[in-house]
Amino acid sequence: MNVFDNFHVYLWRGNDNNCNTCLFESVLNEGRHLVVDPGHVMTPSYREPGLERLAQEMKHDGVDYDRIGLVILTHGHPDHCEAAVSIQKETHALIAMHRADEEMLQILGGRVDIYLQDGMMETVSGRQYDLQILHSPGHSPGHITVYWPYRKVLIAGDCIFYRSTGRTDFPGGSSNMLRESIERLARLDIEYLLCGHPYGHPGFIQGADDVRENFEIIMSYY
Ligand SMILES: [Zn+2]
Repeated sequence: MNVFDNFHVYLWRGNDNNCNTCLFESVLNEGRHLVVDPGHVMTPSYREPGLERLAQEMKHDGVDYDRIGLVILTHGHPDHCEAAVSIQKETHALIAMHRADEEMLQILGGRVDIYLQDGMMETVSGRQYDLQILHSPGHSPGHITVYWPYRKVLIAGDCIFYRSTGRTDFPGGSSNMLRESIERLARLDIEYLLCGHPYGHPGFIQGADDVRENFEIIMSYY
């Protein structure tokens, strides 16, 4: 669904586990698109076609799948990045992620083209589409989050869910690091929070008050 400007959010509605996705339309060279966390190609348990559904929803929004030019991955777990490998093969899109999660993508047959770390990422669509990358470890060592200052959107990956947080019991996970990451994110001015999964909620929290309340609930039990 188109939220505003060139920003689209695709909330996962299947029965199996898969992640939420978002897309910045035509913000790259030659009008190509930037996608964050395309998810599974096919979910493992119920065999739901995640990537096919994503491409269909993009088509519904008038966004051409073949013109994806860059995939940003919040982290290396397959429920976020399996489809990136297919997109890289099919559209020649580049993949950007943090070096510390690179191996997980390589196991799936993907290649990292751009290493992300703390800092600003510029697009060709003017400064209003500049994105801030924040290294936010804890759920995984190379987890990053993406903040869009112009619209005050935080793409939180598996750091923050609706009234809960990402797991820290996977290899390289750390609950101390996750707490520090969340404390840092809580200081941002956020009006829209896109969570990595639709756990207990579609996963797109809208409004500064609701976002603040969600942070307070999470931080009260940490
Ligand atoms: Zn994960």
